[in-house]
Amino acid sequence: MLTREEVSFLQSQGLSSTDVFDTKGRSPRVVRDEARAAGKRILLGVPCQAAGHRLRTRAGHCVQCDPSKIAYQQRTEVPGDVYLAVSSSLGWVKIGSTTNIAQRRYKINFDAYGGASDWKLVFFLRVSDHGRLELAAHAALSRFAVDAPYIKDGRKQVSRECFGCSDLLAVKTIIDCAGRGGHRVETDWRDQNHHWQGQRTKDR
Ligand SMILES: [Zn+2]
Repeated sequence: MLTREEVSFLQSQGLSSTDVFDTKGRSPRVVRDEARAAGKRILLGVPCQAAGHRLRTRAGHCVQCDPSKIAYQQRTEVPGDVYLAVSSSLGWVKIGSTTNIAQRRYKINFDAYGGASDWKLVFFLRVSDHGRLELAAHAALSRFAVDAPYIKDGRKQVSRECFGCSDLLAVKTIIDCAGRGGHRVETDWRDQNHHWQGQRTKDR
C-alpha cells in the first residue's frame, strides 16, 4: 500500500502505482529480475537510511532522495527488437530478439537455421524489454515448436526459436503478448514486399 506522499512523488515523475513492484521486504538483488520481468521500474522496499523513503530503483537506489536515478535507469536499459523471420522452403517461422536489427537482418541466413538459407526478416516490434517479450511469444507458440539445427562458431546447435505455424499467427502472437505483458512498444515494421500467409505452409 502506497502512502499519499509516495503516490504524489510517482506522479511528479510521470509514474504511477502500476510501475511499482512490492519487494515484501526482500532485497533488490533478489527481486530485480522478477520486477523487470513484471515490467516494473520502481521497487517498494525497506525504508532508506537518510529519510525513511521506500521507493527505489531496481538497483536499490532511493529515488525519492535522488530522482535522477530513475532517468539513469532508463538510459542504461537498451531497447531491443523482437523479430519474426520466415523460411518459405521450410514453412517455418523464427521468433528471436536483438539489439541490432540491421545486423540481424543481414546475418539471419549465415546461421542457416534448419539448414535453410532463405530466411527473411519480415516483422519486428521495438520494446523496452525485448527478452521478456521474446520468451512470452515462444511460450504462447510452444505447441508449434520445431527443433532447428544450425551451426554456430563451427559447432552444431539446436535452436528452439523456430515454429511450424503461419507468419500471421506469429505476428498476432507477438502483438498479443506485447499487449498482455504491458510492454511499451516503440515502433514496428512490416516488410512491404512480404506476402503474408494466413495458413500454415507445412505441417510437421
Ligand atoms: Zn531516501
